[in-house]
Amino acid sequence: MDIILLAVPFFFALIALELVVERVRGTDYYRLNDALTSLTTGVLNQAYGAVKLLVPFTLYLWAYQHLAMFELGQGWVVWVLAFILYDLCYYWNHRLGHEMNLLWAAHVVHHNSEDYNLSTALRQTSTSFLSALFYLPLAVLGFEPLMVLTVGALNLVYQFWVHTQHIDKLGWFDRVFVSPSNHRVHHGQNPVYVDRNYGGVFILWDRLFGSFQEELDDDPPIFGIRGALNSWNPLWANLQFYHQLWQDCLHTRNWGHKFTLWFRRTGWRPPDVVERYPLQKTDLDHFQKFDTQLSVISGGYALLQYIILSVLMLTMMLQLESIPATQQAWIVVFLFAASYGTGALMQGVTHARAFELVKHGLLLTSLALWQIPAWSTTMLLTLSLLSLALLPLVRAATTKPATA
Ligand SMILES: [Zn+2]
Ligand SMILES: [Zn+2]
Repeated sequence: MDIILLAVPFFFALIALELVVERVRGTDYYRLNDALTSLTTGVLNQAYGAVKLLVPFTLYLWAYQHLAMFELGQGWVVWVLAFILYDLCYYWNHRLGHEMNLLWAAHVVHHNSEDYNLSTALRQTSTSFLSALFYLPLAVLGFEPLMVLTVGALNLVYQFWVHTQHIDKLGWFDRVFVSPSNHRVHHGQNPVYVDRNYGGVFILWDRLFGSFQEELDDDPPIFGIRGALNSWNPLWANLQFYHQLWQDCLHTRNWGHKFTLWFRRTGWRPPDVVERYPLQKTDLDHFQKFDTQLSVISGGYALLQYIILSVLMLTMMLQLESIPATQQAWIVVFLFAASYGTGALMQGVTHARAFELVKHGLLLTSLALWQIPAWSTTMLLTLSLLSLALLPLVRAATTKPATA
């Protein structure tokens, strides 16, 4: 947890650097609406970090105390082994996350951006409840809980830098480690790239288990998923595929399929549902990204809302012990609810501005009641009042005219 917190300034410094490179090279890898959606899902993912870790950590602790076969201690060889074996567990966690309907519903968030840049790295799920199970073999082997937590955080931090289009192939490095080129393949929806390159740090697992694919010069990755999200709503980004599975579960007349569809291969749908409710798949030959047009002031306002959510999230991460549990729950609920507003604005939803007005009313009331540090209250108060001053000038987005 602390490692991730320490890494946050570096994440943002690297995003700033990537934006400078974007300007210098004249590339168009960033769009404000997409980047803000990615970054907001990242805030939601971290916002309930402590709660989210509690169950998996307790489960791991129990397995470690009752099932550990060896007393491995803390030697450097054990640390290195823990780092390598954690990545092996990650490989299978990630692979099943792509290959089973229920697990894909949780992981899909990381893939439903149609851009690929460092902000995509922070686009993370809020519903990965079953991931912890994949790391229990480490408890059985006897790796200490805090060691696994640490190598897990290092594993996650490593994966940040590979989400860029500015770094080309890296020769021998690409053959051993997960690299920008290897991971671009993982985010591609081109048929040749689907379900490839699952490794977190080492690409060796993919070579070993037959899931490796090299990035091809004549087939540049088209980023995103075949059942496009077409939304800037971070909550919907988290729920879209669960919703589809739930609908299929309701619609099928086969009782067996109602239960098994969740655990079948990703994309499998009951035959009677496929017939009655066919799904549109992205046409890759005429691919167009989902996009909308926002004025400069409205874009600035949207960015400001993201900063507000980030300050609240950081307050939670830094002051976990001093904020009463009920207020923590309140902040988490507020963060999730508030995240709807910016997405609605960027998507042109008519009631977006009214929602924002209510949101700031709630925030200002809450600030009077929350026991959070003065620096946080001052920042949030300033940002909220600035937002309210800008709000009359803000306009919901319009659909961007299609371009060839
Ligand atoms: Zn993935
Ligand atoms: Zn990724």
